[in-house]
Amino acid sequence: MVKRQFGHRARLALTPAQARLVDDQAHAARGMWNLLHEWWQMLPKHQRSPVAADAAIRQARKEIDWLGVLPAQAAQTVLKTYLVAWRNCWDGRTREPAFKTRSRLVLSVDIPQGRDLHVSRVHRRWGMVNIPRIGRVRFRWTKDLPVGKWANQENRITGARLVKDALGWHITFRVTTLEAAPALHQGSEVGIDVGVSVPIALSDGSVYTHGSWLTEEEQSSLLRLERRAAHRRASRKQGEKISGRLHRTYDRIQGLRARAKRRHLDWQHKTTTEIARKYGIVVVEALTIPNMVKSAKGTMDRPGKNVAQKSGLNRSIYAEAWGRTIRLLTYKTALAGGSLHEVPAPGTSQRCSACGHITPGSRESQAVFVCKNPDCGWTGNADHNAGRNVLHLYRMGLALVPAAGRAVVRRACRVKPATVR
Ligand SMILES: [Zn+2]
Repeated sequence: MVKRQFGHRARLALTPAQARLVDDQAHAARGMWNLLHEWWQMLPKHQRSPVAADAAIRQARKEIDWLGVLPAQAAQTVLKTYLVAWRNCWDGRTREPAFKTRSRLVLSVDIPQGRDLHVSRVHRRWGMVNIPRIGRVRFRWTKDLPVGKWANQENRITGARLVKDALGWHITFRVTTLEAAPALHQGSEVGIDVGVSVPIALSDGSVYTHGSWLTEEEQSSLLRLERRAAHRRASRKQGEKISGRLHRTYDRIQGLRARAKRRHLDWQHKTTTEIARKYGIVVVEALTIPNMVKSAKGTMDRPGKNVAQKSGLNRSIYAEAWGRTIRLLTYKTALAGGSLHEVPAPGTSQRCSACGHITPGSRESQAVFVCKNPDCGWTGNADHNAGRNVLHLYRMGLALVPAAGRAVVRRACRVKPATVR
């Protein structure tokens, strides 16, 4: 048996009045963070402590009216998250905590205790959940959760978080379960090459592709809205308030972008599930995306070449969200009894997978690979070739430390990853 912890996200059916109340709670949580940050920085170092912060929060909740809308438990979570943010900073994982601005913030409220939630299923498609200070709210039931008679010490919901995106408020449950360990996956090994023109190409020749996430009609309306927003922004005077019409335009842009993101995530989930079910050992390149998307702009004295082209490529690299594909594959292969391995990336797209030589000009185009080594002459699809190289590196024993079963591999920014050779 293995313990498993995961999140499950579901859409909440709030009335407009309830949604406004949750908005208020989320803004109070943001205000609480900012006050806490200000207080922390103002205090001499020797006086900073979790106990003092806790006392300050209690006092602030009594004295400041608008902080009172935030439930006490949620206020405690703000403090806890703030302290974790400092710990992450001191350990070199992140930068210092900062003030949370209104404009770039993902609104969220935490419900740290699972027993406050009283989750129950009321319909094939709907569940009910208690939200502090709001009441009983319906949510979309898309997965069987351990509630009611199925809940026990090992299988239960331990907490939740309300998160708002362009499509409204959602609830993310924290779920703990105890499940039978999966049997070792008997499937074959496969190497994966991720790319821009072909998103996922496997070493056995199969490919996973997708079209544009928005229909032509949606794309043209997105473009129209973006132009309209840019035009209104340009004509706005310094210090002038953003009009209600501009706000509505922004909301519609956000809605369309969120729709595209959902379709992309849906495709990633389906693709990675299929790969994890089919193959026992999945090998990917260890890509350092921050290095790949470096700007080509250059400096004032030495301007770069093909700046626009490179920035377009960078945008497509970001748009493909490889990191998320890898993250999904990591936990899905582990769930299916398989494993995911990473191999060093350099050269996988230039090297010939038949003879192992890097001969200049072998990669004739984005799609075609023709080995220029006179003794070899292998021809094939360039992405297929790269996938075969990735698998070959794994078979040679060049895999980096496996990340299988761990959704997040945490290490300090300045520490180089250990490699096993
Ligand atoms: Zn060759």
